[in-house]
Parts: sequence; C-alpha cells; structure tokens
Amino acid sequence: MQERLKELQEEAIQKVEQSSSLKDLNDIRVAYLGKKGPITEVLRGMGKLSAEERPVIGALANEVREAIAAKIEAKQNHLEEAAVLEKLASESIDVTLPGRPVKVGNHHPLTKIIEEIEDLFIGMGYEIAEGPEVEQDYYNFEALNLPKGHPARDMQDSFYITEEILLRTHTSPVQARTMEKNNGKGPIKIICPGKVYRRDNDDATHSHQFMQIEGLVVGENIRMSDLKGTLDVFAKKMFGQDREIRLRPSFFPFTEPSVEMDISCKVCGGHGCNVCKQTGWIEILGAGMVHPNVLEMAGYDSKKYTGFAFGMGPERIAMLKYGVDDIRHFYTNDVRFLKQFSVEE
Ligand SMILES: [Zn+2]
Repeated sequence: MQERLKELQEEAIQKVEQSSSLKDLNDIRVAYLGKKGPITEVLRGMGKLSAEERPVIGALANEVREAIAAKIEAKQNHLEEAAVLEKLASESIDVTLPGRPVKVGNHHPLTKIIEEIEDLFIGMGYEIAEGPEVEQDYYNFEALNLPKGHPARDMQDSFYITEEILLRTHTSPVQARTMEKNNGKGPIKIICPGKVYRRDNDDATHSHQFMQIEGLVVGENIRMSDLKGTLDVFAKKMFGQDREIRLRPSFFPFTEPSVEMDISCKVCGGHGCNVCKQTGWIEILGAGMVHPNVLEMAGYDSKKYTGFAFGMGPERIAMLKYGVDDIRHFYTNDVRFLKQFSVEE
C-alpha cells in the first residue's frame, strides 16, 4: 500500500510537470485528489489494515495528497503568470494611431463681447481697471454725485448688506476709486468691466445680475468731440463700418452734459422697421462729460481737468450683435444656446 501511494505521487507530479494549461491542471486535480481518485480509494481500503499499520498509511496518504496539491498550485501560479506576460506582449499600444479628440469648451458669448471691447480700447491706449462687487455706498453713489436721498437712486435700487455696504449697481465706483487713487493727477484712460446688481424682476430684458463695461477718460482739454469720436470708432468696430451714430440729450447724475448714443439700424438702413421700432435708430449706451462735482470729490481741479465717461451693457451688445431675444439665455447655462458660439470669430 505504501508503494502504491509513492507511485501515485510520482505519477501525478510528472503529469503536473508536463501539463501546459490550467484546464490540464484541473483535470489532474480531479483525477488524483477527487472523491473518485485513487488516493481516496486507498484510504477506503484502510479498514482491512491492522491497528499498527493504519496511522502510518493514513499519515503517508495525507503527505502524498499535500505534495500533489502543492505541486499543482505552484504550476498554476506559473501558468497564470505566463498568461499575463503573454497578454501584455500581445497588447502593446500602437502610438501611431490618431488620438481621440478632446472636447474643448468655448468662450461664453458675454466673455467674447467683453474681450472684444477690451481689445478695442486697449488698442486706443486704455487700461483695464477692476473693483469690488460688494461696494461701499460712498463709492457706488455719493462719490458719483448721488448723495443720500437723491431721487436718481431709485433707478438703481440694490441689494443691501448693511446701510453702508451694498452690491454695486454699476461699475462706476471703479471710476471713483481710480480717480481717488490717482490723487488729482491725469491722465486716466480706463475700461471697467464687471458684474453689477439691481433689485429688478427678471424678464426678457431685465436681470438682477448683469454685466457692465464703463470707460473713463480724465485729462486736460478733454472735450465732447473726443467722446463722440471714441464712440464712433467703437460703434463701427462692433457693429460694422457702415453704421452711423447719433447722440441724444439725456440725464445721469455723474455726467454733465449727458447723452444716449444710438446706432443706425442695420436691418432697414435707417428707414424704420420692427427691430428699431420704426425709428431707424437703436439705443446702445449712455455717456457724458464727467460732472465737475465728481471730479472735485475725487480730488481733481475741475477748472484744469475735464473728462468723459460712458457705460454699456455687454448683454445688450451681444443681443443686438447675435440676435439673442432673451437676456436670461446668458445665465441659464443651456449648452444648446452656448454651443452656438463655439466657432471663434
Ligand atoms: Zn430698422
């Protein structure tokens, strides 16, 4: 019986060594170690053995089982490792294949408009100036000739944090801050883009948050004709060389005189249509000569220095330029809307 077990062990180990697949190994395992295998059979015959022989044979049978099982496991590890190496070798990456295109986003239409306007004015020697969106009442109103209780404040109701701190209603406080920083000295040529806030109900043409770009020039001998020439260059660059501009008298507390600028309607060429409400003109922005009070409050001698300022809404410019019919499209982040601006101009 001992010899039979030794024979079985040698036989099984030889087979394991010769096997070349995981399936072969499994067959060997079942054949030798399974319930119907020869070792089990030997153990079954142990009843016929004497009491002295029984433990010896039992121990030997277990030794043989363990030796075969260990050999199978070692061979299995070896085969698995070889399979992985073979897989790696066969799956090398072909670096000459073209890559998958990476999805690239595009600039928001308002960003495009703002950058276009910034570029235009930088080309004319302006600098970009920015300031806080949470602003002091002083810079947002008082320094701009809008003392407390001034009726024009009603047009710019805001969100107040305290009595003295609010969300700015225009980017004009950046003008006041820049003038103050320049300490009564000119010249100043700045463009101030940024977000502003008003207590408005949102609809197709109103939003409680919107963008604004303002411009300010302060220096000696700055005249109304300088303002008009600057706005003419701006209008032709943004809307086309064939556009005419006109200035209409208006009122802003921080400029005197104040004007609204219109551009001629592109659709009807000035004859009147639905787009221009039959007037031939489309309102674009407000402007004017800086009010002497504003200059004086910022520390400028208004006898020596003059200046002009203008302010516009990039949303309105974008709506006119791209034919957008609702201001809310700019803020709802609908990809179907934003994707239309993916072709860089
Ligand atoms: Zn028209």
